[in-house]
Parts: sequence; structure tokens; C-alpha cells
Amino acid sequence: MKTISIVGGGFCGCMLTLHLLKKRHSKIKIHLIEKSEKLCRGAAYSTEFNFHLLNVNAGKMSALQSDEDNFINWLKENKYPYNNEDYVPRKLYGNYLSSLLYHELNEDPGAVDIHTEEAIDLTLDNDKAIILLESGKKIISDKVVIAPGNFPPQSDNDPFEKYIGDGIYFTNPWDHQAIIGKIHKEEDILILGSGLTMIDLCTTLFYNSHRGKIYTYSRHGLLPAVHKPVNYYPPFYHEIEKANSLNKVLSIVKKHLQSHKQQGGDWRDIIESLRPFNQKIWMNFSIKDKALFIKKLNRLWSISRHRIPQEYQITINELLKNKMLEIHSGTIESIEKNGRKLNITIRKNKSEQPITISVHKVINCTGPQLNYLKLNDRLIQSMFQKGLIHPGPLNLGVDASADGKVKNHYNENIIYALGSPLTGVLFESTAVPELRLQAEVLADILLFSDLPVEQKPY
Ligand SMILES: Cc1cc2nc3c(=O)[nH]c(=O)nc-3n(C[C@H](O)[C@H](O)[C@H](O)COP(=O)(O)OP(=O)(O)OC[C@H]3O[C@@H](n4cnc5c(N)ncnc54)[C@H](O)[C@@H]3O)c2cc1C
Repeated sequence: MKTISIVGGGFCGCMLTLHLLKKRHSKIKIHLIEKSEKLCRGAAYSTEFNFHLLNVNAGKMSALQSDEDNFINWLKENKYPYNNEDYVPRKLYGNYLSSLLYHELNEDPGAVDIHTEEAIDLTLDNDKAIILLESGKKIISDKVVIAPGNFPPQSDNDPFEKYIGDGIYFTNPWDHQAIIGKIHKEEDILILGSGLTMIDLCTTLFYNSHRGKIYTYSRHGLLPAVHKPVNYYPPFYHEIEKANSLNKVLSIVKKHLQSHKQQGGDWRDIIESLRPFNQKIWMNFSIKDKALFIKKLNRLWSISRHRIPQEYQITINELLKNKMLEIHSGTIESIEKNGRKLNITIRKNKSEQPITISVHKVINCTGPQLNYLKLNDRLIQSMFQKGLIHPGPLNLGVDASADGKVKNHYNENIIYALGSPLTGVLFESTAVPELRLQAEVLADILLFSDLPVEQKPY
């Protein structure tokens, strides 16, 4: 009997489990290892707050690639009043994922062992993988899938580093309950970063009736764009496919943006039309072009691609209108402790006078740490030390083939990665619309890739 261990019981780990159970032709044993108390939640769907919304509309959030209306139908069956274009509470989405998984688990309760603890070490012994759990328990399996999700931010040369652990500086921006539990409503807050996590946190503070001032700081000060209805724009990947550099790809995209704008179209239509091809485009870039993209274009891409629902924009506008929120950009010139507060001096550019803001608390929302070499995570460190993983392109995630097979010295078909560890390889390995496909394809590989060709069902 084949044994498969999955480290991480968030979206990826749980949907992979579901597909393995649905697709298996013979008996298998699955070990699903999740360090938190709840399956299917991860950082995204573990929020208890109904004002935390999905940033993709309900019509595109089916967890199953082959059943596009699965989420919408679940909402209808459970009498939730949402339509395709609505942005649904993330908590509800977690409930949906749980109902899918537990339905499948109940069909064959013995097939999956759920381990509620952290996997801290992995070794290979001949053709088996041995996972060590925090309790000392060892799990032996034929295949292992690493699906750990996003790791909290760790800024390079972080000027606030010395305040970690003293109650001023929060480095896990997704633990909203813990953050608001430690912040007084009158306190002034600085949020580092101006992306989706910053918006999420401002929303939490707003609904928590925060009365202190909120400042945000990022080098550029750009906020995520807002969702608007998208119209179909015909795919033009056949033009991009022939381009052999980032510059050429860019000029093709710009051409389409301009002509669409001239005809009264919206840029979002072009971004959405590119979406199914983004991974291919990334994989075709040279390493030099990948680095150039990250350096020069990643922020612009990110704010255009990962947009916010209008509900969030209304909250942000309300905070701005009431002068409770100030958005700053530029360079941090100095940080000085002044009693219970930090005085932070920011200069927008050389021609402007610096400004100094004074805050009680600082929260790092600069985005997940994707450079796995810098992680403190025990499992990831142990895998690096044993040569079981190597850094992915540009040190993002781990090196692997596009279908998730991890590349290492041993080159065995034993270790696979799913979701964010594949960011360097695929670039877009973040949101449900791409992760659901990854999970389904990986299930086929795990179940059938060792079979002789004539026995493979695909
Ligand atoms: C705040 C937030 C909001 C988001 N909103 C959306 C959205 O609206 N729409 C969308 O499409 N995407 C969204 N995303 C993207 C999100 O990352 C994916 O939708 C999806 O949840 C990722 O699934 P995952 O399994 O890779 O990671 P997760 O769902 O985070 O799961 C990873 C799990 O692995 C566990 N784990 C890690 N290491 C170990 C270990 N060593 N041992 C045991 N367990 C371990 C963690 O506890 C965690 O539960 C959001 C992300 C965040 C952070």
C-alpha cells in the first residue's frame, strides 16, 4: 500500500488529500500533518472576522478546477446570499473547504491519519521518507509533499529588528486576534508595506473602533488597485510566445493596453486575459529577465494583479477622510525611541523635507518571506542541511520541476512541493485559481507516475 505524507493542512494540503482520495484506484494511506488546530484554514481562511473578504470573486473561487460552480453551488445550498461577482468572507470559504474535505474523509475514515503537530525534520532512507514530528513520532512514507503556505515577513536589513520581542514590533501580520489584543485603541500604529495585508489590517483596526492614528510606509506608497467587472479580452499569448525577452513581452502587453484603452476598454481586461499564461511567460524568461522583472515591475504587477474588493476601498477612503490614515513613502532615515513611542523620520525624496511620525506599535506587512534560506523554520532548515532542497530561481522558494517534483542531490521521486514553495519556479503559485489545478495534477503524479505507461489513467 502506497503511503503519502503531506506537510501542511491548508488549502493545498487539504485539496491534495481530497483529490488523492477521489482518484485512487487502490488502497493508499495518507498522513496529513498540520501544526494548527484547524484543517483547511491556513493564514488566509483562519480569520474569525466576517469583514475579512476574499480578494477573488466567488465565481472564481471553486476549489475544484473541473467544477467551476462548486463554491457558488455550496453557497446556494447553504442559503448564503452571494452571487458570482460577490466577495465572500474568508471565514466562510474556510467552512466550504472543510465541508469538501470532511465529506471525502467520512467516506473512508481509515484512509487518512491527521497529525496535529509540527513536522520538524525529514530524512531519506533508501526509497522511503521519514518525517519527524515535534512529539518525537516518526512517519515513514513513499512520497512526501511539502505544502507549508506563506511564511511571515522578514524584511532585509530590517531597521526595526531590535524591537522584535519587546511588544512594540509585530512580525506576524496575519494573527489579527493577537495583534488587536495587544494594541490599545488610542495607540498610534505604523504599518510597514502597502499591499493586501496592510489593507486587511486597516480594516481590522477600523472595525475594532481604533481611535489612534494609522500610518503606512512603503518605498513607493502604491496601494492595490480596486476590482471592477472584467470584460473578455481575447488571449494574445501566441504573440508573447515568440518574444524572447522581458522587453519584447512588455512592448506587446503595452500595445494591447494602449489599443484597448483607445477603444474605451479597461486595463483589468488585459491583466485577466494574461492570467492563464502567466506561469508559462515566467518560465520562458531568462534568469536575468526574471531578476529584472522582480526589481522593476513586481510591485506594479502585484497591485494590478492582486486587487481589492470595493468594500475594502470604502473602508480605506473612510479612514483617509477622517484623517485616521496617512500613507507615506520614501526612505526611513532614522528611528529613535522616545519613552513608550518610536519617532520615525521618513524622507520622500531628496527635494522634500523629511517628516517625523511618532507611533506606539509597528506591524510588518511587507509580504511573505519567500527566500527559504532565511527562514527559521525547522523543517525547511533541516531539508537544506541535508541537501534535500535547494533554493529556487532568484532564491524564491525551492528548486523543483513545474509539476512540483523537488530537485535535489538524490533526484528521487519522493519529495514534492505544492503552493508557495514553487514561487521561484512558477512565479504565480499563490491564489486558489492556480493552486487548485496544481493540487489536482499533483494527485495524479503521486498516484500514477510510478505505474507502467499502459496502467496510467492519463
Ligand atoms: C491573509 C491572506 C488572504 C488571502 N486571500 C486569498 C483570497 O481571497 N483568494 C485567494 O485565491 N487566495 C488568497 N490568499 C492566498 C492563499 O495563500 C491561498 O489561497 C491558499 O490559502 C494557500 O494555501 P496553502 O495550503 O499553500 O497555504 P495555507 O493555506 O497557509 O496552509 C499552509 C499550512 O501549513 C501548515 N504548516 C506549515 N509548516 C508546517 C509544518 N512544518 N508542520 C505542520 N504544518 C505546517 C500551516 O500551519 C498552514 O495551516 C490569501 C493569503 C493570505 C495570507
